[in-house]
Amino acid sequence: MGNVVINVGMKEILEMKSYYSMHLVDKLPPGSVFAAKTPSCMITAYKSGKVLFQGNASETEAGRWGGNPAPVSSKGKSAAKGDLPAGIGEMSVIGSDEVGTGDFFGPITVVAAYVKKEHIPLLKELGVRDSKDLNDEKIIEIAKVIKDVIPFSLMTLKNEKYNQVQQKGMSQGKMKAILHNQAILNVLGKISPEKPEAILIDQFVQAGTYFQHVKGQKEVAKENVYFSTKAEGIHLAVAAASILARYAFIQYIDKLSEAAGFKIPKGAGAQVDVAAAKLILSKGREVLPSYVKLHFANTEKAMAIVNKKR
Ligand code: MN
Repeated sequence: MGNVVINVGMKEILEMKSYYSMHLVDKLPPGSVFAAKTPSCMITAYKSGKVLFQGNASETEAGRWGGNPAPVSSKGKSAAKGDLPAGIGEMSVIGSDEVGTGDFFGPITVVAAYVKKEHIPLLKELGVRDSKDLNDEKIIEIAKVIKDVIPFSLMTLKNEKYNQVQQKGMSQGKMKAILHNQAILNVLGKISPEKPEAILIDQFVQAGTYFQHVKGQKEVAKENVYFSTKAEGIHLAVAAASILARYAFIQYIDKLSEAAGFKIPKGAGAQVDVAAAKLILSKGREVLPSYVKLHFANTEKAMAIVNKKR
């Protein structure tokens, strides 16, 4: 069981009080503004601005509030399975996942998808599962069907934009967090006034870091947001999101291949160095920013190949 303390302003404390309004407890410790008890976390906010989270979900709950959570006595890992609501796999859930972060060529694609519990058997029938177990043909086949069955939102961070924000100093983690948040908001908008029972993000950073990343955004989806690694195996909504994200990524790579005039490889291995060198030799170095993630070491390696050939 972990304890987390964060420091926030009175405005946030009041916001928290209304967020936890269903769980407020009457008996207040001295110096506190409110205390609340959810099934997996005890929250106590003090006039000093300190908020104490105790229980299995302490890091997830603290993370929602963007304070800088410092684990006091936990194992130092967030989003243990214990943080997730019991039975989440059978709930109506928005899941989100991204593709392309480790690929030299092509964009980052993020998809959030809403899978209602009634749709779970159908998706299973259609073969929706961990996209890492599926080849491209199968992914395309499944994606073409589910895109008309479930509400989803696709965010594509194209290479040109990616390189611009990366050069301004934005981390990939922050880019991903902003894209996930936007995709989730889009889906929430699409299904409104219906609400998911939970929102599950395939975890790429700790909850606290995620909420730090999206702090400056106009709107942030916070309510019922959970994180887990290997979330594709926890709810089919994440598996469906990952299939749709991969489908979009594959299509984008196909478009790049067409523009390049040869097949663009995925990944970040030696084959992409060779392909980038070929691209530079045929179209010039200046086209690179619209094809690749420039800050990858592959850029230098491709230039080395080019220089040897010249
Ligand atoms: Mn993922």
